[in-house]
Amino acid sequence: MMIDTILIVVELVLILLYIIIHCYNVFLQYYNMDTIKINPEKEGNSNIIDDKLNKEDNGDTIEDIFDVAIIGGGYSGLSAALLLGRYLRPTIIFDVKQRRKSVIHGYLGFEKTPREELIQKAWKDVLQYRSVKRIGKKVEKVERDYDNNLFLITTATTGENVKENDLIKRRKARAKYLIIATGVEHVKPDIQNFEDFNGSGVWHCPHCDGFEATDKRLVIIASDNKNNEAIKYAKTFLGWTKNIKLFFQRPLHRYNNDEISYALTEEQRNEARTLGIDVIENDCIVKIIGDSETNAIVGVLSKSNKYHEADVLFYHLGQIIHNEIANQLGCEFDEGYLKVNEKQQTTIPNVFAVGDIDTDRHYAILAAASGALAAISIYEDLLKDAIKTTKLESDI
Ligand SMILES: Cc1cc2nc3c(=O)[nH]c(=O)nc-3n(C[C@H](O)[C@H](O)[C@H](O)COP(=O)(O)OP(=O)(O)OC[C@H]3O[C@@H](n4cnc5c(N)ncnc54)[C@H](O)[C@@H]3O)c2cc1C
Repeated sequence: MMIDTILIVVELVLILLYIIIHCYNVFLQYYNMDTIKINPEKEGNSNIIDDKLNKEDNGDTIEDIFDVAIIGGGYSGLSAALLLGRYLRPTIIFDVKQRRKSVIHGYLGFEKTPREELIQKAWKDVLQYRSVKRIGKKVEKVERDYDNNLFLITTATTGENVKENDLIKRRKARAKYLIIATGVEHVKPDIQNFEDFNGSGVWHCPHCDGFEATDKRLVIIASDNKNNEAIKYAKTFLGWTKNIKLFFQRPLHRYNNDEISYALTEEQRNEARTLGIDVIENDCIVKIIGDSETNAIVGVLSKSNKYHEADVLFYHLGQIIHNEIANQLGCEFDEGYLKVNEKQQTTIPNVFAVGDIDTDRHYAILAAASGALAAISIYEDLLKDAIKTTKLESDI
């Protein structure tokens, strides 16, 4: 009986100790930490790049300066991080999680894999390399430290976990190179039942999901026909179906309630007619109608209360390019997208941009490829510098 009591007391003391240590760690992690440190167990200390970097700092090791900071952990950012990890480069990757219910098409080896599954696997791949550190927060500000040729990155106070907000301080990191991988967001329509079918019957990307329109009755909604955009978009689907109805729609939070005329030129009307695209210019879609048993779309209802049969719906209402960080740094843009050269470098030295943010071709495998290209370019840059320094020193 006595032994039992002693054992229970010991157990309780141990649990209490565990809770105290855990709370202390959480406190240190979220409250006391301003500057993000490099993992001290970083592997690979026998290489020419780290030799050079250590010498640059008067022989001291540079503790909290990363070679590369990546903003955005989607396909492009993670792809860059994976290579940088394999190059042994101290890398920090910031990402606010984006929950997206979709499956991936056209990504070799991952056809029809849920996006969440692929991204989770990618994080696992990346974080096996100890020189890479992940911060699950939004980057709010990036400033340049011209004297030291560094970027100073500051996160927002809000994190992934809303409950922790009170404890979270802004965090800072310094980096020599910056990769902007913040992506774009597609404007969604304000239509009844949209969310019920989004990702299963309703899509926006023809190259990703146009296959779903094969031989189907397709309804397209577009915001306007600036630069013949809507007609061009509708024509993309002609390789899958000839049964296309194009409506013009006001996107959510974009225009006021005044009726907007989407009038096409006579030439555009003729082209659409010749190609068999039925254009409805002054009646927008207000509701998607589904079959309660099959859960599939059966039609759409327009503002004038007309019913149109349909199997799939695609929308093309513009996008929001996440260019806040690029703007802060003064990067140049080309038709809304970040301007980059063949190495993915922007117009600002040491700032790279990858993925959807620098192109109108929004495709996961292309985004991943551009991330890899940026990582290779940065590695080659660092290596070139280190080789040059080593040669100069041996000449002295
Ligand atoms: C619904 C949908 C379905 C799609 N289906 C396909 C498909 O089947 N096949 C295909 O090839 N492509 C598909 N795409 C396109 C593909 O997802 C994109 O081309 C790809 O995600 C682009 O990758 P990215 O790295 O540029 O940006 P994203 O994948 O968008 O990643 C950007 C990341 O940066 C984060 N971020 C943004 N700002 C900040 C900040 N300030 N601080 C920290 N983090 C930040 C975001 O939260 C996000 O996690 C689809 C897109 C959507 C929306």
